[in-house]
Amino acid sequence: MSSVLSFEDARHLVEQHAASARPRGKELVALLDSQGLILAEPVLADRNFPPFPRATRDGYAVHAADLEMLPATLQVIGEIRAGAAADATFKLQPGQAASIMTGAPAPAGSDAVVMVEYTSRQDNQVTITKTIAVGDNIVPIAAEAQRGDRLLSPGVRLDHAAIALAASVGRSRLLAYSKPRVAVLATGDELVDIDVPPTTTQIRNSNTYSLAAQIQAAGGEPLLLPIAPDEPERLRELIAEGLEADLLLLSGGVSMGKYDLVEPALAEFKAEFFFTGVQIQPGRPAVFGRIPYGAGAPARESEVNQEALKVRSFSPAGKPQKDSPALSPESHKYFFGLPGNPVSTMVTFELFAKPMLQALTGMTPKKLIFLHARLKSEIKTKPGLKRFLPATLSGEFEQTEVELVRWQGSGDIAATGTANCYIVIPPDRDRIAPGEWVPILMR
Ligand code: AMP
Ligand code: MG
Repeated sequence: MSSVLSFEDARHLVEQHAASARPRGKELVALLDSQGLILAEPVLADRNFPPFPRATRDGYAVHAADLEMLPATLQVIGEIRAGAAADATFKLQPGQAASIMTGAPAPAGSDAVVMVEYTSRQDNQVTITKTIAVGDNIVPIAAEAQRGDRLLSPGVRLDHAAIALAASVGRSRLLAYSKPRVAVLATGDELVDIDVPPTTTQIRNSNTYSLAAQIQAAGGEPLLLPIAPDEPERLRELIAEGLEADLLLLSGGVSMGKYDLVEPALAEFKAEFFFTGVQIQPGRPAVFGRIPYGAGAPARESEVNQEALKVRSFSPAGKPQKDSPALSPESHKYFFGLPGNPVSTMVTFELFAKPMLQALTGMTPKKLIFLHARLKSEIKTKPGLKRFLPATLSGEFEQTEVELVRWQGSGDIAATGTANCYIVIPPDRDRIAPGEWVPILMR
């Protein structure tokens, strides 16, 4: 069984399935605890923004028409501070000005604010040396938003700017989507957990921890399962446990080795496989599929979904085949089998598992975008696969450069210690010259 897709087709396929994924529920959270959660309600303006014509500079509120002949000398009739009560302001008559502070209400009869830099004051006279247009340095009532306008929509990730908006409309609590639970199952006979001293040939399980961190960063709650040995029965038991979560991520056991048992084990749960490989490096053996809801116990041998094992053929337009079973979003659990090499696991999470997880958080779907940076030193590579190679972006301000880190392949976890991004190399390139702009995926 194999269905190997191009990177773009694989990504689009995940995005299409993600479009039908639904979050688990909603909960009311304190504004200060809402950072990183996904908003589950619209946030509306409770008043006009600004609620009064707001001065945006320190200076003098004036009638612009009084400044046609320069220098103009006006009579200062008072001062308006930020927060001044509405009835503490006054009405300007022609020839008059009021001293005003940033954030204060512009008085009736004024239509502009002259910056203090263009004025000189003597007692109750101010001399102004610059003309001004009607409306300058005053934001009119409701110019930013009208009472009742939608300031934030459900699906937005609550970052500091969204939290500021909620605060500005007086929302101390917000309705947010509950975090999806993501089961993490590392597989491999050679693995030991991090508090167990490994023998010479054993490897500490790092993928469970990198995935847990990536899940948290993407807004999910990781559920760490014990390490699964390369042995079908225990692997099945742990997969069944993992299917209790909203999403199941497995690492390792998806290559062509004799003890790569993950796909056959999933097939016993009547799994439907959407792809079993992607033309990328690292991460070529990545697997994506779903299991019908309630298939918590492995099917008996006779019930194994032989059809699914053959893998649904993929339509180039990127649409799931018409003959896919018409399952409602709640009727199955999605899973990803991520290749076990540490860098492969990290990269394939970012590229494929993350959009599905984000959909389960309730987040409005986002396209994957690559930034660009100038290449510092030449890259030579074999064409054929799209590559995501660990790299270092350095420099300062507008001057940034990126270069590959030396690595020994996708098992080289030490190389990730100095890297801070990946250079994306198209499959048709064998050489990229220094100075070229290259796409990068930030870590
Ligand atoms: P696999 O994908 O199972 O063929 O594993 C590929 C490589 O990744 C092997 O060298 C494994 O020892 C290593 N590996 C697999 N799982 C993990 C893990 N959880 N933590 C660290 N290394 C792993
Ligand atoms: Mg393995």
